[in-house]
Amino acid sequence: MSDLIFAGGTVVTAEGSFPADVAVSGETIEAVGVDLPRDGAEVVDCSGARVMPGFIDGHTHMDMPFGGTMTADDWDTGTAAALAGGTTMLVDFSLQDVDGTLGEAVETWQGKAEKARIDYGLHVAITNLTEEVKQELPSLPDLGVATVKIFMAYKGTPLYTADEDLFEAMQIARECGLLVLVHAENGDAIAKLQEQALARGDTEPRWHGLTRPEAVEAEATNRAIRLAEIAGCPLLVVHVSCAPALQAIEQAHARGQTVYGETCGQYFVFSDADLARPGFEGAKYVCSPPLRDPSNRPALWHGLQAGDLQIFGSDHCSFNYAGQKDLGADDFTLIPNGLPGVEERPYVLWTHGVREGRITENLFVAALSTNQARVHGMAGRKGTLAPGADADVVVWDPDLTITATQANRHSNVDYTPYEGMTFTGGPAAVYVRGELAYRDGEVIAEPGSGRYVHRTFAQPAPGPAVR
Ligand SMILES: [Zn+2]
Repeated sequence: MSDLIFAGGTVVTAEGSFPADVAVSGETIEAVGVDLPRDGAEVVDCSGARVMPGFIDGHTHMDMPFGGTMTADDWDTGTAAALAGGTTMLVDFSLQDVDGTLGEAVETWQGKAEKARIDYGLHVAITNLTEEVKQELPSLPDLGVATVKIFMAYKGTPLYTADEDLFEAMQIARECGLLVLVHAENGDAIAKLQEQALARGDTEPRWHGLTRPEAVEAEATNRAIRLAEIAGCPLLVVHVSCAPALQAIEQAHARGQTVYGETCGQYFVFSDADLARPGFEGAKYVCSPPLRDPSNRPALWHGLQAGDLQIFGSDHCSFNYAGQKDLGADDFTLIPNGLPGVEERPYVLWTHGVREGRITENLFVAALSTNQARVHGMAGRKGTLAPGADADVVVWDPDLTITATQANRHSNVDYTPYEGMTFTGGPAAVYVRGELAYRDGEVIAEPGSGRYVHRTFAQPAPGPAVR
């Protein structure tokens, strides 16, 4: 017998859209079908709305140290913001301490995540591939970790990883069933360009973008892909921001190599012109890879349409303008990298993707939810409205219109880069495992109600490339 029925809406999955009810029993979906029996269940009237699987954001940074400071959002405020966009699960990055183990990183982040209002998984970012860490990698799947991240950028910080370690990590990952994620930018070239810019006295925020040209991303993307080809492992290139980097992925697909690609909302609504805003305003738009010339956008849309880019993340990494971004007031290299966006991610994709006719609502669900679950290792349980899956449900109002201001955002940041931007389409109500978590602008789920999700990377079968 069901407890809850989402009735009278249009069910939208990655495969298709159709009028149906969705029945929930306890924490799981019991049935999807026409005119399901009510039997005293609580009925949620979804007429005029789309009923979708809860969105998953495979790329966030909550309560994370960076550049001598901590992100503004912790797991309480960050997951409140996520819910306000319809996101019911995050996969966040636990960071290996340079002298620490991977297990310690997972434990530290599980402690931080005790305040989560939604379900979550954890990637592990490898910062120091010691002999001990090489021995430890095969134990990650037992901890429910399916993914490891390697940074090719940020030379001069512990995040930076040289090719020999990246390559060896790929070989080990292949053996123990982990998916490797890369931040692909050429850290050596960036460090040199930054040094030369500062020596010339070029210290303003716009130099952040000018010292990270598209080619440094394209080069590193291609290099990571070729190293993965040699190691024989699949790869996920995160935050693909420009056409030349996407081209490297398209070429890999043409060769038959399994490479997944993520792009992010900020690259579709902001540009290098925002980095060049007068005064120090550009610091509000500093993230890496940097915001690009808008001429890249048609290629990124095509990447999503063609399946060369499968997932749409936020890379939510928030820092206050006052007291954090201004650490770089005299030197752009000291501006903490990152933008808030976990709340806006679905609004951006619906407004500019679905409403403007670039993608279908089914691709919207695939990029925000179903493909996220598949790539990040929780397919079947998350990212679908099928019987037996967790009852994470978004009741989406395609006509809901909101203009973003710092005051109506749910994250804990003193500005929003989306200030004054109007979106149409948003969540009317959000349920996490059958519990009402958000409704009409109000976050209802309590901190601590989220649960850790044990993920398993599904190694693609030998044969044609999997996208
Ligand atoms: Zn990131």
